[in-house]
Amino acid sequence: MGRLAVGWVLILGTGIAGAALALGIWLRRVPPAIPPPIRPPVGTIAPRSQSAALPRVGLPSTAMAALPSPTTPTPSPSPAAAPGPNSASTIPQRLVGAISSPAASAVDSTAPRVTVHASAVPRSGGVPILMYHYIRVNPIPRDRAGYILSVPPRDFAAQMGYLSEAGFHTVTMAQVRDHLLHGTPLPPRPVAVTLDDGYEDAYTAAWPVLQRFHQTATLYIVTGFVGRPGYLTWEQIGRLDRAGLEIGSHTVHHLSLPHLAPAALQTELTTSRQTLEAHLGHPVLDFCYPGGEFNQQVEDAVAAAGYATATTTRYGLAGPGDDPLALPRIRVFGGESLAQFAAVLSRAATAHPQ
Ligand SMILES: [Zn+2]
Repeated sequence: MGRLAVGWVLILGTGIAGAALALGIWLRRVPPAIPPPIRPPVGTIAPRSQSAALPRVGLPSTAMAALPSPTTPTPSPSPAAAPGPNSASTIPQRLVGAISSPAASAVDSTAPRVTVHASAVPRSGGVPILMYHYIRVNPIPRDRAGYILSVPPRDFAAQMGYLSEAGFHTVTMAQVRDHLLHGTPLPPRPVAVTLDDGYEDAYTAAWPVLQRFHQTATLYIVTGFVGRPGYLTWEQIGRLDRAGLEIGSHTVHHLSLPHLAPAALQTELTTSRQTLEAHLGHPVLDFCYPGGEFNQQVEDAVAAAGYATATTTRYGLAGPGDDPLALPRIRVFGGESLAQFAAVLSRAATAHPQ
């Protein structure tokens, strides 16, 4: 019995040691723990709803470069239906809403694949340049790209109303340009509103709201798309230009610029500018990278084409000392609460009180 007991102990001990050895080997082969999801920069406006159902992690980085097919624009709300700046029953109540965790919004899928700046942390001080696309109710709820690109007209009206009530002053990119390059003072609490791609709802939905609050904006036009269904016409662009909104270039075809041959790149930059200037009758000096995609070669070409500023999809505030051809912006997603919108702007106002 003694020998049998010793034998069992040896067998058992060998088995445990072997198992431990095997476990050790396995652990060394296990890849490192998956890093936690990349969190957006503090202050990124996240959708208040559907964030779980609409993870932006999986969206291709070219989502912005490939324009969604335009659809019938949502009719703009009547002034009576949209919340106004003095609608005490609307804004204060919505401002009470809790600000959701930034982690809920995951990563900005449309971040450029090619950039010259790695940091997404906003600098201290600077002008917030808000980035919008469609001002519409997303017509296809399951279209994730369309959802984050679409700010409903009612929300846009509430956001512009908030800016008015909170003492912000909207400025064009021309004003931002003069401020950055020449030190020209900006009004108190400056904020630039930019609308990309030249969708028709910039005229039918955004423009009435901007008029109501005596605000301005910059529209980045894809000249090759002008007049197509769902896009602005030259007549509309001319009216907006004459009304004081600024018209900037967003290339001819909204292609991924870092992937173009030099000749095609030059055509996208110069032809779009020349076309806009021919229609408007004045210089066009402000540009926006399609999809936020650029590299040093693209930026050099933008400078050679005569542009003085260029905006990206990189997050942050634009201020003196920034590269004027790589200006950060603050994306406004469809679905965020007014409280989230106000929180980001209030941080910007603290950073740039003048
Ligand atoms: Zn675009």
